[in-house]
Amino acid sequence: MHMTNEEWHEKLTPEEFHVLREKGTERPFSGEYWDSKDLGVYSCRACGAELFSSHSKFDAHCGWPSFYEAMHSDAVNYTDDNTLGMHRIEVTCKKCGGHLGHSFPDGPEPTGQRFCINSLSLKFKPESEKK
Ligand code: FE
Repeated sequence: MHMTNEEWHEKLTPEEFHVLREKGTERPFSGEYWDSKDLGVYSCRACGAELFSSHSKFDAHCGWPSFYEAMHSDAVNYTDDNTLGMHRIEVTCKKCGGHLGHSFPDGPEPTGQRFCINSLSLKFKPESEKK
């Protein structure tokens, strides 16, 4: 799936574009989902691919929605990120390449992973609306 920056600008708000296409980070506790406990599925806000289930969501007290696993093993890609003087693992949407957030090895069981994801990269669909 390849779209030009012009096409992404038409599809996304400036804030969404900054996070998804320019690897920006929303301010903690500012996003729409960091505190949500509703049951359902979080999809990519750019391309609609299903990324995370509410069943793996937990409160990491960091101000961003956090999950201990991706919904499918092939939903996301991992890339080394050495910016800001840190070593982190960047998490991107496998389908569209959009920046989602980072993965850290300090999450809860059963995976020990913490996916720290921008709300602006996600679109939530409640379980009750699923067919
Ligand atoms: Fe995507």
